[in-house]
Amino acid sequence: MGKMLVKCDPHGRVPWNDDIICVGCSAVWQCRSEAEPRYAPEMCTCGRRLLPPPGERGRRGKGGKGGEFSARLLCPKCAEAARKAAAS
Ligand SMILES: [Zn+2]
Ligand SMILES: [Zn+2]
Repeated sequence: MGKMLVKCDPHGRVPWNDDIICVGCSAVWQCRSEAEPRYAPEMCTCGRRLLPPPGERGRRGKGGKGGEFSARLLCPKCAEAARKAAAS
């Protein structure tokens, strides 16, 4: 299986780089590495469930047994732009 693609309006289809966005508050997180900043928590800072509980992973956005969750895949270019905006 190849790298998952993200469909983004301005950027087209790009390889997903483990960036996610909370649909509730538009906070940008990553799930690449706990050692990196903004590692995705299970609950977003806005109080929504960002990720399904462990064991329910792999059904992102579908709301399995764990209920609704707010993470959506984010294009790496949009993630980069969001990080720059947050840093300035
Ligand atoms: Zn949020
Ligand atoms: Zn994009």
